[in-house]
Amino acid sequence: MKKHKNIAARFAMRLSGMILTAAVLVTSCVIPSRARAKTNPTAEFIDRTYEILASAKPDAGRFDFWYRNLSSGNISATSMIDMMISSPQLMLGEETRLPEGEQLLDSLSLLMTEKPMEPQQKSTYLDYMAHGVSVRRVIYDLSVMTEYIGVCGRYTVRHDGLSDLSPRDTNPDLTKYVYNMLTDLTYGRPATSEECDDWCARFLGGQAVAPAIDDAAKTGPVAGSAMTDEEKVVLIYRTMVGQEISAEEKGSYQEALANGMSMSYVVQKISETALFQMKCTDLQILAGSVELTEPRDNNYELTSFLTRLYTRFSGNRPTAEDLNGYVLQTIEDPGTVREVITQMLSAPECQELIPSDEEFLNTVYEVFYGYTPDNSKTKAYLIGMSNGITRSRILSEILKDPAFDEKMAEYGIDTRVEKIVPEKLVALTFDDGPYTPVTMRILDALEPYGAHATFFVVGNRVGNYSESVIRATNLGCEIADHTWNHTTLTKISGDAVSQQIWDCAETVYNLTGVCPRVMRPVGGSYNSTVSANVGMPMIIWSVDTNDWKYRDSQHVIDEIMNNVRDGDIILMHDLYESTADAVEYVVPALIEAGYTLVTISELAEYKGIDMENGKAYFSMRG
Ligand code: ZN
Repeated sequence: MKKHKNIAARFAMRLSGMILTAAVLVTSCVIPSRARAKTNPTAEFIDRTYEILASAKPDAGRFDFWYRNLSSGNISATSMIDMMISSPQLMLGEETRLPEGEQLLDSLSLLMTEKPMEPQQKSTYLDYMAHGVSVRRVIYDLSVMTEYIGVCGRYTVRHDGLSDLSPRDTNPDLTKYVYNMLTDLTYGRPATSEECDDWCARFLGGQAVAPAIDDAAKTGPVAGSAMTDEEKVVLIYRTMVGQEISAEEKGSYQEALANGMSMSYVVQKISETALFQMKCTDLQILAGSVELTEPRDNNYELTSFLTRLYTRFSGNRPTAEDLNGYVLQTIEDPGTVREVITQMLSAPECQELIPSDEEFLNTVYEVFYGYTPDNSKTKAYLIGMSNGITRSRILSEILKDPAFDEKMAEYGIDTRVEKIVPEKLVALTFDDGPYTPVTMRILDALEPYGAHATFFVVGNRVGNYSESVIRATNLGCEIADHTWNHTTLTKISGDAVSQQIWDCAETVYNLTGVCPRVMRPVGGSYNSTVSANVGMPMIIWSVDTNDWKYRDSQHVIDEIMNNVRDGDIILMHDLYESTADAVEYVVPALIEAGYTLVTISELAEYKGIDMENGKAYFSMRG
């Protein structure tokens, strides 16, 4: 009995003003008597209702309860039927088992309109009820039919309908839509009545659909599932539009996904279709639109270019996070697109798909320049790679070709835009090496900060210390020319000058695949003969540490930190442990002071200086 009391209490709350307790149902009442009711239309209505719904007669307690409330007009016949259907054991009798499904619909139709339900109508209701709508909606619909009003008139009972339909019973087509969204996209299991009520209320209250679908697709089972792009597109389209997607439209969304666009982008595209808009109009809800916040979704051309590139080299799409990073970097600083591409294609997965260096080079040329390079272009690169130069370093060299800018223009990327220039730049330069014991220490100091320096190497030393030259190249440092055997150029002929420079350059080129672009004359000494024959820009210096003279790290540190200015070129020698000691201090100190450590070529590029062969540069101060 306790359980019945609780249920009854809930009904009492629903039917405001009506006093109803379980006690009423079981306590025998004095009036009206069972005998007197026999001839009364209201009593007949009660009997008939019991007969149709429960195939039984009401017991005295229940009969009296219904009779009193119906005849007094306390409740309508519709409410009575609703209460009976909602809680048959309590309201009809403890043994009552209601018919289900189709039979229940037939019984209700017979009861309320005295005729069976049309098959078409029946299947519509069965479909609704399988998608979150309750039977109360059926009772409500039947209660407004003229047949029912006639029946109620004959039996002298109130016919008015249910005034408190829950959100999920308010708009059955919307409920079905919501049920599918929750079941297929949000939860991956059948939605509950409470969930349907919640979401129907939101949409009826004016919340837009497209963002909700987007959210469901982002966080629901579709997001993490092993479904293919095609399956996801089909399911999301079906949920949004309520019909199957055409092959053509499916293809275009799959292509967008393959090009790196997000599922939110696809949801947004579907939300723009006329069919989706019509669906929302039919359901009387707001379509809304998806806010695309990821960088990749706002730049189709660029995103698809970078995605296709990455996919070509790795066999897989980049992760959303990586792709957003690449796209954002390219948009914010288009001048760095070479670095972005180099970084992207340096990912380990991009190294593994194409095992042969030659094939890698051919692919790079084909992708960026549209042709297969001949041996003269690739020979040095292949040697460099066989000596340990990384593919990304070689790639960054290949992308220096001006044809790259034209290629990027095809994808709407303006590479001629200058890079964002760091506020303070400085070029550390080291002469007279390489000398592995010291050069490696300097590289160790630079590497953690991604800092770059320039090494003016002496050609005849390169073979003995090639490992430090390879490593410096891979770290993005510049290997520059400091003659073949440290000859003072002002003392030799023009031809000899040329020989000194190109012997050194060739040695570096044949080791790394990258040719030196700048040189430094020994002792900083040059004359018109040197200028005319050197064939490269001549880089002197603006801060001389005299590290070779004092061999004192503190002296080097003081010289640099007391004198450094933006655009300076600082002279050191990677021959002395004391110089390496100083560099270990100076690199973090300069960075702390706001400097970006760059190579000579980078310094010139940032400063917009187009260096000329044979011209001397002491600094690149602004
Ligand atoms: Zn020197």
